[in-house]
Amino acid sequence: MSISQGLPGRFNPQSYDAIVVGAGFAGAVCARCLAEACGYKVAIVERRDHVAGNAYDQLDDAGILVHRYGPHIYHTNDERVHEYLSRFTQWSDYSHRVLANIHGTLMPVPFNHESLRRAFGEERGEALYRKLVSTFGQDKKVPIMDLRERNDSDLAELADYVYQNVFLYYTMKQWGRTPDQIDPAVTGRVPIFVGDDDRYFPQAQHQGMPKDGYTALFERMLGHDLIDVFTGVDIRDIMEVGERQVSICDRPYGGEVIYTGALDELFGMDRGALPYRTLDMVFQTLPQDRFQPVGTVNYTVSDNFTRITEFKNMTGQVVPGVTTIMREYSRDYLPGSGETPYYVINEPQNQKLYQSYRERVHGLLNFHVVGRLAEYRYYDMDGVVASALELSDELISNH
Ligand code: FAD
Ligand code: UDP
Repeated sequence: MSISQGLPGRFNPQSYDAIVVGAGFAGAVCARCLAEACGYKVAIVERRDHVAGNAYDQLDDAGILVHRYGPHIYHTNDERVHEYLSRFTQWSDYSHRVLANIHGTLMPVPFNHESLRRAFGEERGEALYRKLVSTFGQDKKVPIMDLRERNDSDLAELADYVYQNVFLYYTMKQWGRTPDQIDPAVTGRVPIFVGDDDRYFPQAQHQGMPKDGYTALFERMLGHDLIDVFTGVDIRDIMEVGERQVSICDRPYGGEVIYTGALDELFGMDRGALPYRTLDMVFQTLPQDRFQPVGTVNYTVSDNFTRITEFKNMTGQVVPGVTTIMREYSRDYLPGSGETPYYVINEPQNQKLYQSYRERVHGLLNFHVVGRLAEYRYYDMDGVVASALELSDELISNH
């Protein structure tokens, strides 16, 4: 493998069997699979100056390992994904825990048995818990929007509390909309948990952090003789999209193209821009061992940021006397501005616009789209890896 900044003057796309756009999970998994299984020579073109996409981590000036694009916690129940990624890293046994700061009291999120006690007191908390267990069963996940529909005065009281204190203001900050106005699958990512497990991903079979970090995982995955990575290059500067085929460096390209960027950008947004939310991430290094008790604290009823992450609490890094935290401020993404489109806004009219771009891609020869941006989907890392493995299977079987 080589990683070069920029393209060399002698860059010849025709000498590669595949061009992959984007060095995040989607692109890196496809590149590795095609190099390994087909013996393809693969060039990855990445517009950032590093690999790993949004999972990128690096040491900051204080020597703290930080996630440059937001806290990334690996969790999956997909055995194939886990086995695949485990080729490139060992895992720490970290379990992510999140507390909601509700008027100064910290309560576990997802809202669970202990949260009930803290919110309602011992007696009432236990009574509500028993009601949840008898209604839904032990160790079950109940999305807030489902709980709100229950016709029961105890459950209504609970649903109202959790809706008002955990979901409403946080969701307004994150999406600029109320929970009723967004895709229920989004709030359903953090269901109430009827049990004592206080991990953010209860019941996830595998969870943890890559032992040496995400960037190291990527460097190993991309460490293959047949893979060349070119960072700091925007594919739009060298690729033209025609009706049936793409040209790269002014010549029709006959190999496979795997595109993991946004589809509207591919077509110059000629049918309109796909809406996203972006984040302003504000990092702060403090002269103290520890800032907060867990990896992430969500500010669900106050402040104008959504959450604070303290990286040492997630990575287990030991550096005395200093810590780095990060606050996330969410807002609408400005298309064409160079901002990062972090979150898809899953609404019917946006999906319709996406599909109209996607149909145009279908007509392109040997052109494949995969990943959180290219599929316009709210994917976690494991979902992206699964999707990239599926696409790779298809390409390998056609080879
Ligand atoms: P990306 O990582 O975005 O990679 C795409 C790459 O393509 C980018 O590096 C981009 O620069 C490049 N690219 C785009 N257009 C071009 C172009 N024109 N030319 C060249 N290069 C281009 N998932 C979890 O499982 N756990 C978590 O805790 C978690 N936390 C998250 C927190 C935040 C704030 C965010 C935003 C996401 C989080 N995710 C998490 C989701 C995770 O980041 C994604 O699922 C995964 O990184 C997506 O991989 P990808 O390859 O599809 O996209
Ligand atoms: N959410 C909330 N309060 C919380 C946690 C989550 O309202 O304390 C809602 C919010 O709408 C958020 C969604 O649930 O966008 C999904 O949360 P998750 O933590 O999965 O979001 P991500 O980590 O992807 O930003």
